[in-house]
Amino acid sequence: MGLNKMLVPLLQGLKLTLKYMFAKKITLQYPDEKWEVAPRWRGRHVLTKHASGKIRCVACMLCATVCPAECITIEAAAEPDNRKYPEKYEIDLTRCIFCGYCVEVCPKEAIEMTTAYELSEYSREGLIFDKERLLEPPQPRYESQKQKKAG
Ligand code: SF4
Ligand code: SF4
Repeated sequence: MGLNKMLVPLLQGLKLTLKYMFAKKITLQYPDEKWEVAPRWRGRHVLTKHASGKIRCVACMLCATVCPAECITIEAAAEPDNRKYPEKYEIDLTRCIFCGYCVEVCPKEAIEMTTAYELSEYSREGLIFDKERLLEPPQPRYESQKQKKAG
């Protein structure tokens, strides 16, 4: 085998190694560094409220009906003035495919998707979000070392 046939690939390989050695790193040191997702990212849901603090959802069941994964469970109840509201509203995120149909179909803008993507849990039950959890804005799931030291 000629010297050139050995040297050229070796130099090509070294050139590539050097190129990536000094290039901007794309590995994120999670959780100290976090992904900045697109504003339209379809992450964990939230249920929204009126300015008065009342839940917007009127338990019309449209979201549960349109959901292709059948992961929304709603039990409706009525206020004394006959206004309906969800006594139980639950999303099983182990089944959700984050398609966003539930948001699109809602006539009251009562359900939104956030950019929260930290959804790992140790148990399946942890990924079943009930009404109370869905009414809370998502919190950062994992603290960075800096946050831990500060806290
Ligand atoms: S995002 Fe899609 S799969 Fe998930 S709850 Fe909404 S409709 Fe169902
Ligand atoms: S979230 Fe919207 S679509 Fe779903 S039950 Fe409530 S009002 Fe209806």
